Amino acid sequence: MSDNLFELFRSRFPADISRPFIETPDGRTISYGDLEAATGRMARLLAARGVAAGDRVAAIVEKSPEAVFLYLATLRAGAVYLPLNTAYTAAEVAYFLGDAEPKVTVCRPEAEAALAPLAAEAGSQLLTLGQAGEGSLIEASRGFAPDFAPVPATSGDLAALLYTSGTTGRAKGAMMSHGNLASNAIALHRIWGFEAGDVLLHALPIFHTHGLFVAINCVLLNGTEMLFLPRFDTEQVIRLLPRATVMMGVPTFYTRLLARPDFDAGACRNMRLFVSGSAPLLEETFEDFRERTGHTILERYGMTETGMNTSNPLDGERRAGTVGFPLPDVEVRVAGEDGAVLGPGETGVLELRGPNVFQGYWRQPEKTAEEFRPDGFFVTGDISRIDGDGYVHIVGRAKDLIISGGFNVYPKEVELVVDAVEGVVESAVIGLAHPDFGEAVAAVVKRASDGTPDEAAVIQAAKAELANYKVPKRVFFVDELPRNAMGKVQKNALRERYAATFSGTA
Ligand code: AMP
Repeated sequence: MSDNLFELFRSRFPADISRPFIETPDGRTISYGDLEAATGRMARLLAARGVAAGDRVAAIVEKSPEAVFLYLATLRAGAVYLPLNTAYTAAEVAYFLGDAEPKVTVCRPEAEAALAPLAAEAGSQLLTLGQAGEGSLIEASRGFAPDFAPVPATSGDLAALLYTSGTTGRAKGAMMSHGNLASNAIALHRIWGFEAGDVLLHALPIFHTHGLFVAINCVLLNGTEMLFLPRFDTEQVIRLLPRATVMMGVPTFYTRLLARPDFDAGACRNMRLFVSGSAPLLEETFEDFRERTGHTILERYGMTETGMNTSNPLDGERRAGTVGFPLPDVEVRVAGEDGAVLGPGETGVLELRGPNVFQGYWRQPEKTAEEFRPDGFFVTGDISRIDGDGYVHIVGRAKDLIISGGFNVYPKEVELVVDAVEGVVESAVIGLAHPDFGEAVAAVVKRASDGTPDEAAVIQAAKAELANYKVPKRVFFVDELPRNAMGKVQKNALRERYAATFSGTA
């Protein structure tokens, strides 16, 4: 067996391959045998189209079982899977295709006409795949035999290319190897106690590391079933949860469930594990969820470039507001800007090293070199602290750090104070250009009801708790904080919206 991840998955298929792999809410059941045959046909089609080891295969498609097959067929063909969000504009797709030069691009049938010139420009062949499994990818693969020997790969060979933008600059392609993905999946499968009979409820998008690798790869290593929802639909999730044992979600999944009075312990009666990640889980959500359901959400932390890095324990205390301990074989440390390693309780940037850490940014060796220390630690850009018990706390992105009048302000510290004000649902604290202070602290707040608290009340409450330079100089009220598909608050959009607030106030 080579280190091709597909071979690892296959070694874990159930002995009876007629067992289910995917079940959809409309009643389709897809077995491991179906997976084996469909990915064999697709891998043959890719090979017939000239896709060889190391070539990229781009997918700009809706979530569907066939899209999962495309991911697995790409691995089987020894090629590199490149998933892209269907929400990208034509200009963004043109950039990705030009940068990654995929040999084959698969898009939604309705996007074909618009994407054809972009694919042609990038020298990429275009195939289509619709949400119901229709399109030229499936039609063309039907003509091929289902057997296809996986192309051997070493653990360092690339398996996937995931673009990540952070909040500034052009998106960079994070190169993930077969070894990166395998080591992370094996670690998560073990520490989260996957077992026979587990059924995972899958409601995440599959163009991102969370839904694609964390969720699907754990299921494949377990050789069990997932209930595969096209998207997170609260109604559907409540209806299907009694059939599931594990769910992975972003924090907004949990707040949406809690907003429904009919969501209760009964809906979770067969569940053994709720996992949260991709964005910070509010302590209030953690507590409310425990009170309502009796389940303690397990929060973990990861990023595109590394897969998962830390996790609260399956057995042992899951501590609210923390992301737990490093995964087996992952080393973490907190360092100052100069690279000096800091001690317990000190706040700095989290650095980490391990088999999960990516191979670098696609065709950007200088960018890659900038993000690594000489001893191989990757600089995550997440401001964090490791407490005396070893729990890792993520304070926020280094890019979101506010420097006001020369003082560092960590937005999270201010957000916790603002969130505690009666009537505040949640907040995002940002720095805005200020002629006097360089940056001034501002808070953007979602309230439970209009009118209270008002701006003065929030500022007053913050003054009682925080040093003056941390107190928001302005408070803005919004109906909803802008979030991306993974539930992350888009602070960039907020900074842009309120950019001119303090111009001319010196
Ligand atoms: P992405 O590469 O899109 O997955 O984003 C990774 C970033 O999401 C990390 O660098 C963190 O800033 C953030 N993140 C992921 N999980 C958590 C978490 N549990 N708590 C706080 N931030 C998180």
